[in-house]
Amino acid sequence: MATRTTLEKLQILADAAKYDASCASSGTAKKNSLGGKGIGSTEGMGICHAYAPDGRCISLLKILLTNHCVFDCHYCVNRKSSNVERARFTPQEVADLTIAFYKRNYIEGLFLSSGIVKSSNHTMEQLVETARILREEHDFRGYIHLKTIPEADPELVHQAGLYADRVSINVELPTDSGLTRLAPDKNARQIEGAMGRVKSDIVELKDARKRFKHAPRFAPAGQSTQMIVGADAATDSDIVGKASGLYKSFGLRRVYYSAFSPIPDASAVLPLKRPPLIREHRLYQSDWLMRFYGFKPGEIVQAAGADGNLPLDIDPKLAWALKFRETFPVDVNRAAKEQLLRVPGLGTTAVKRILIARRHRTLRLDDVAKLTQSIAKVRPFIVTCDWRPTFLTDRADLRSMLAPKAEQLELFAA
Ligand code: SF4
Repeated sequence: MATRTTLEKLQILADAAKYDASCASSGTAKKNSLGGKGIGSTEGMGICHAYAPDGRCISLLKILLTNHCVFDCHYCVNRKSSNVERARFTPQEVADLTIAFYKRNYIEGLFLSSGIVKSSNHTMEQLVETARILREEHDFRGYIHLKTIPEADPELVHQAGLYADRVSINVELPTDSGLTRLAPDKNARQIEGAMGRVKSDIVELKDARKRFKHAPRFAPAGQSTQMIVGADAATDSDIVGKASGLYKSFGLRRVYYSAFSPIPDASAVLPLKRPPLIREHRLYQSDWLMRFYGFKPGEIVQAAGADGNLPLDIDPKLAWALKFRETFPVDVNRAAKEQLLRVPGLGTTAVKRILIARRHRTLRLDDVAKLTQSIAKVRPFIVTCDWRPTFLTDRADLRSMLAPKAEQLELFAA
């Protein structure tokens, strides 16, 4: 293999890491300032952003240790049979790069993943060693997110959690049959077994720290996972069901949804076209409805169409409200928080403000309008002291009245 400079390796391994959505910003158009025109670029790889538990946005060096891989997952650009340029860092090189970027104030942490080189255990050892060098030799206190390998020895995954702030294990596909077909070297039971052990370690060591001041921390920012959307036949209902099961069983902090994008040198078993990016967005919205708005997975599924997929032209909360109009209108001056959270167009902050404001005065439509981006979307579903929607809630053409115009949708459908 040709000897590569650090910069060449960085280019290859930062680019190879961009397909992992666990801390990605996606969906924007490609722009750059090559040729001296303008300033900035949306195409550069290598630095991504994540949110700390206190809400701070932190920038992370996002790279792979190597893009060599002995597995052959069809959807992955780094799979064994892919014809991409390969490179490999040593743990020491990644640690040195992290510290160098950190000292220059480019980053505040590291997101490290890897292809499987030699064996799962060998690769996991290398990932752990990188984190060990950073934590023990450099006393690095910045954020570390390690992707862990479910097939590796549980003791190695445990060590990863002792060094990392967050660990993640990708479930990859929403259904077992999809995983078997597209990632033949992976096993759903093994993935869930590894997630279960991480959950136990998190709970156990959190509990130990309450009793013993010096008990070690274990992945204090929790664990997360990623699912690829649109590479197999799984519907949004399948995906929502899988995600809610994962949150419930493994106490995940986040499930990330990554719209499958055709990769260079793609396998013939993959679809030729990517799903619309708005589908990924609708799944994130449904995820928020389950985590912050009190929706049950079954209710999200009710918002889906007969094909099991969420509508693309309207958000899932509006889709649910239009199907269950008998639940509306709700009186913003009297309704419980749970009912207000179901009103399309009212976010958690708006609901919180309504609950505070109505303690002091009776709210009018104008008061609600100041708390939302579009009062037109809210009006059919609420009652205030000076407003009743009367027949508006039941109008047959309400959906078309509230759906954004097609031209607006294009903004998101890159
Ligand atoms: S294990 Fe699968 S998804 Fe991960 S790098 Fe290898 S081929 Fe890609």
